[in-house]
Amino acid sequence: MLRDDERIFTNLYGLQDWKLSGALKRGDWDDTKSILVKGREWIIEEITQSGLRGRGGAGFSPGMKWSFMPKTVAPGRPHYLVINGDEGEPGTCKDREIIRHDPHKLIEGALIAGLAINAHVGYVYVRGEFHNEANHLEHAIQEARERGFLGPNACGSGWAFDLFVHRGGGAYICGEETALLESLEGRKGQPRLKPPFPANAGLYGCPTTVNNVETIAVVPEILRRGADWFASLGRPKNTGTKIFCISGHVNMPCTVEEEMSIPLKELIEKHAGGVRGGWNNLKAVIPGGCSVPMIPKSLSETVLMDFDSLREAQSGLGTGAVIVMDKSTDLIAAIARFSKFYKHESCGQCSPCREGTGWMWRIMERFVTGEARIEEIDLIEQITKKIEGHTICALADAACWPIQGLIRHFRGDIERRIIENELSVGPPQSDGASHPNEAA
Ligand code: SF4
Repeated sequence: MLRDDERIFTNLYGLQDWKLSGALKRGDWDDTKSILVKGREWIIEEITQSGLRGRGGAGFSPGMKWSFMPKTVAPGRPHYLVINGDEGEPGTCKDREIIRHDPHKLIEGALIAGLAINAHVGYVYVRGEFHNEANHLEHAIQEARERGFLGPNACGSGWAFDLFVHRGGGAYICGEETALLESLEGRKGQPRLKPPFPANAGLYGCPTTVNNVETIAVVPEILRRGADWFASLGRPKNTGTKIFCISGHVNMPCTVEEEMSIPLKELIEKHAGGVRGGWNNLKAVIPGGCSVPMIPKSLSETVLMDFDSLREAQSGLGTGAVIVMDKSTDLIAAIARFSKFYKHESCGQCSPCREGTGWMWRIMERFVTGEARIEEIDLIEQITKKIEGHTICALADAACWPIQGLIRHFRGDIERRIIENELSVGPPQSDGASHPNEAA
């Protein structure tokens, strides 16, 4: 369990002043100049050595990402830092807490990351619904400008850097980095084909790095305490602290900063007051937001909350959003609801996603009522395999994985419901229902 003196986010619950005066007391902006003057190579090396992996879901090393940026700035091609605060993943509420309760950590991190990638300008893309949060961030940025922490000579370092807030329009797909860039440019948020990657052609066609809010907000603390400190927490390749959001059938839903690799069971019992009705009442857990496959109670007993342990359990850490489901849950209906969500949020560019998400949702709806055929369990699984990896962005994969997780662990529940329905009303009359163009 993480010790209090090792916490990075000491105002996660907003119990203290979120403005500059409070941030200074918590140690933010403490001799930032001494970090900046060590230069970009040192910053990138320290962040890489700390083992920090991106906190937005993909888990890619930000140090590595920064090193992919061109070493020199070509004429007319400025570098940009873009911070993803869209946080649309259902179950996730961590970047929001940072932005509204600790905005100066993010701003200081942005300045350091900006220098590391040779960017003089950064944008924070904040989810449109986070109205008060964006207000806090704008206020905090203005405070930083007035104190000379941002501006033409940021923190007296000689480096010019400024940061701007952009409010999104509320589309889930804008959390995908290239869709976010499109949206930031004023266009419809649709993912771009990669390559080229943003490090070569990102915002306005210029070299750009996109990082998650939590990733950027932990950077100053890592550089102050040292890469070794951060790397000493968690396990190799899964280092540091992480903000987890625990919701669903627990006694005390919460957002909490913990050591990476904490056992899932310990996380739920120590911080969320345990599963409603006790641990034995647990049915399944979605450990990383609605895009990752669920795991049953048996795996939840032993799995660790980190990238590698959850991958071995055929799930993922995602955003660290833990959704707990007890035995009262209709898992089929829960996943059908996710399917509807992905169908609604598909941007429509790729046929497998545009057509497939609706097709899967309609089959899932029939699984809920039992008005499906047993063969359709294999069929929908095949559909997920055909869609996965064949689209421009990972939204389509995210639509497939929850269904795969349901079938992998709870196929018997789906079969039982279909058989019970057949016993009560007889088998479905039409087999045209499994065609992609079936009526909605
Ligand atoms: Fe759009 Fe879906 Fe294709 Fe992503 S996978 S680009 S959301 S159609």
